[in-house]
Amino acid sequence: MPEFEETDFVIVGAGIAGLRAAIGLAGDGARVLVVTKEALGESNTNYAQGGIAVAMSGEEDVALHLEDTVNAGDGLVNREAARVLVEEGPQRVEELLRWGTDFDREGGQLMLTREGAHSRNRILHAHGDATGAEIGRSLLRHARSMPKITLTEWTTTLDLLVEGGEVAGAVLLSREGEVRQVRSRAVLLASGGAGLRVLGLEGAVPVEGGLPLMVGGKIIGAIGLSGDTSEHDGQCARAGAEAVQ
Ligand SMILES: Cc1cc2nc3c(=O)[nH]c(=O)nc-3n(C[C@H](O)[C@H](O)[C@H](O)COP(=O)(O)OP(=O)(O)OC[C@H]3O[C@@H](n4cnc5c(N)ncnc54)[C@H](O)[C@@H]3O)c2cc1C
Repeated sequence: MPEFEETDFVIVGAGIAGLRAAIGLAGDGARVLVVTKEALGESNTNYAQGGIAVAMSGEEDVALHLEDTVNAGDGLVNREAARVLVEEGPQRVEELLRWGTDFDREGGQLMLTREGAHSRNRILHAHGDATGAEIGRSLLRHARSMPKITLTEWTTTLDLLVEGGEVAGAVLLSREGEVRQVRSRAVLLASGGAGLRVLGLEGAVPVEGGLPLMVGGKIIGAIGLSGDTSEHDGQCARAGAEAVQ
């Protein structure tokens, strides 16, 4: 195996989640390695069409956004998660604007449309239905301007380094077949999607689009896949949780 490289954080995935996390960590002075198994810019984020619902007109609007979201969920919404979403939304959008996201405007003001169960106009779009592509473009541009961030494309995360029972980095495979072992304080799995599907303990082949989660040299599941649940979900989720700690 090759020698160990070192960084502070490895982030698996260069979609909106991975890039935003990298910008935050590098802004605090950390060295960050972002890896993506495809070209930079190729992710679900790039294909997201619809907009972002955000309450930009103060506290009353935020409270109404929360009620709209909870009501639209017909009992399925986690109120606390929705509260964080609606309260932090305006700050996150301000941030994107500072970093150059070109949301659609009308008469110089942000253009807000109304969709679904929203009781006010509060949906932002960018370049019509290219909202995700525009957000991804601006995040990538901002990340590229930060010297502490290293962006590496065509590099698949194969495994997590585990030392003393704790995640200590990641094993990466380049398109050219080069294997790299990178030690880090933490590994952030931002590989897309929240679904879990366990694929079997031996000889399983991860489905395209997911992160093969290997611990101790065995594939124990995949993160980033939607699909069946099974009795092994708890095991997979625990391993995933350890990975991001
Ligand atoms: C057609 C479409 C329309 C959508 N419309 C909307 C919408 O209107 N509003 C909305 O909020 N959301 C929408 N979404 C959903 C939204 O795109 C996703 O929720 C969001 O982009 C997920 O971002 P992410 O950063 O978590 O993951 P992704 O953008 O999926 O990024 C995952 C990253 O992980 C990388 N990766 C995966 N496995 C590995 C591995 N083993 N090693 C290295 N890298 C790996 C990938 O290459 C990629 O860079 C839409 C999605 C699609 C496809």
